[in-house]
Amino acid sequence: MNLEGVDVSGHWSTFIESRVITDYNERLEEEIAALAGGENIHRCWQCGSCTNSCTVNAINPEFNPRFWIYLIRLGLEGELLRDKDIVWQCVSCNKCTYACPRDVNPEGVMKATAHWLELKGHTAKTPSMHFDEVFSDQVFSRGKIEESRLMRGFFARTKQPLLQDWLVVLVKGLVRRLPLTLLAKLGLAALFRPRTRGWGRASAAIAEYVTERKSEERAALGLDDKGAAR
Ligand code: SF4
Ligand code: SF4
Repeated sequence: MNLEGVDVSGHWSTFIESRVITDYNERLEEEIAALAGGENIHRCWQCGSCTNSCTVNAINPEFNPRFWIYLIRLGLEGELLRDKDIVWQCVSCNKCTYACPRDVNPEGVMKATAHWLELKGHTAKTPSMHFDEVFSDQVFSRGKIEESRLMRGFFARTKQPLLQDWLVVLVKGLVRRLPLTLLAKLGLAALFRPRTRGWGRASAAIAEYVTERKSEERAALGLDDKGAAR
């Protein structure tokens, strides 16, 4: 049997030509492990329980955490990049995390992989990353989350209209069910943006830690603080 000029019959005394892989990144596993959630990727033994239990895989068989972990561990960056536009679709249901017998935290690995794709410039910033950033900015500045401001900030960043059908249904449902006093409190919080008492020092400490972590992550990926290759 001949495949692309190479005898793959398996007969004795035939030579199989070696394939040269040029898009190999021997640090790929290390880079993913350096990002939050990817730390335990080395523990995977490829049982497939994560993919078998995955919510997104049930709808789209191309979404395959086990396969991507395999590619990452082998350093097959080019193969991984073929699926770069679907890795972010993980909905963080964590069914894979509960199914994994090796404590790999496949959900975390999916998040780390999506983050790696962004940091390396292979994909644009995902909506979930925009949401995380708006959420974190609120925590850093006020020490509290104010939901309506959070949603407005997220929609503005992702250029989505504020009036969305699902949101209108949600708000109507909340207005019907929540006590008036709580609704009034929420309205006042939206207007006056309360701040946690004595938050200044905690906020500065958190901001310093986050800056440090981001710098470490970029360094692990061979990037400088502006995201350019060193
Ligand atoms: S957390 Fe993500 S990868 Fe894991 S089962 Fe849910 S959708 Fe799939
Ligand atoms: S369930 Fe865990 S050990 Fe099994 S393939 Fe997925 S990540 Fe690897």
